[in-house]
Amino acid sequence: MAIPDRKPISAAAVKVLWGGTFDPIHQGHVSSAIEVSQYLGVKPLQLLPNSQPAHRHRPVANAEQRVEMLSLAIAGHDELAMDTREIQRQGLSYSILTLAEVRQEIGPMMPLIWCMGLDAFAGLQQWHRWQELLDHGHLLVLTRPETIWPQDPELLTWYTAHKVDDAKHLLASPLGQVAHLKLGQYPVSATQIRKQLRLGYQPSATELAPAVAKYIASQSLYGIN
Ligand code: ATP
Repeated sequence: MAIPDRKPISAAAVKVLWGGTFDPIHQGHVSSAIEVSQYLGVKPLQLLPNSQPAHRHRPVANAEQRVEMLSLAIAGHDELAMDTREIQRQGLSYSILTLAEVRQEIGPMMPLIWCMGLDAFAGLQQWHRWQELLDHGHLLVLTRPETIWPQDPELLTWYTAHKVDDAKHLLASPLGQVAHLKLGQYPVSATQIRKQLRLGYQPSATELAPAVAKYIASQSLYGIN
């Protein structure tokens, strides 16, 4: 069913969160998040840096530096904002705790959408209490270049049981559904940026915002001397 375009919905009516380590935030994050905000017609979308990711190595940059880079990267983009609750909470950043906390704050009726790239979705079964995520909100899975659709039968069965065909359907209910959204494809990762910097190459402005690049240099981050 085609879904008509609607007027932008304010974050007072729908909450859209995108968690990540953002070590550093790159233009793949920024461009994808703007696209999601525009597709859903919801702004601002909240980027939510984690304190200590539960499923990966410790970030290279500390929390304060990652927050600073994030705020530099989103400056001037009114589709985006930042939510620092996981940094303030400290300790391991379990998304289930964050979703439960946000649900408490917004009450039972407001749609709550948690965005993640396809690579993160492929590892969802490693997340703490992953099957309870939909008790608090929806999941929106975003395509990522060079990442294939997961093959795990348990994950696919779960996905099929909860999926809706268009991400805009998530706006019609508070929780319990999963959608997939194909984005414009931004072939950039934080791993690749860190590696480039360590090897002495400067990422392009389409990979890393110039203000963030400048901050990284000023802090001698990622092996820059
Ligand atoms: P790293 O390379 O260090 O793993 P990353 O580039 O994946 O980092 P994260 O901060 O771990 O960045 O990503 C946060 C979220 O953003 C994840 O859900 C991830 O899948 C998603 N994401 C990151 N880069 C992209 C991209 N280029 N396109 C779409 N989603 C992305």
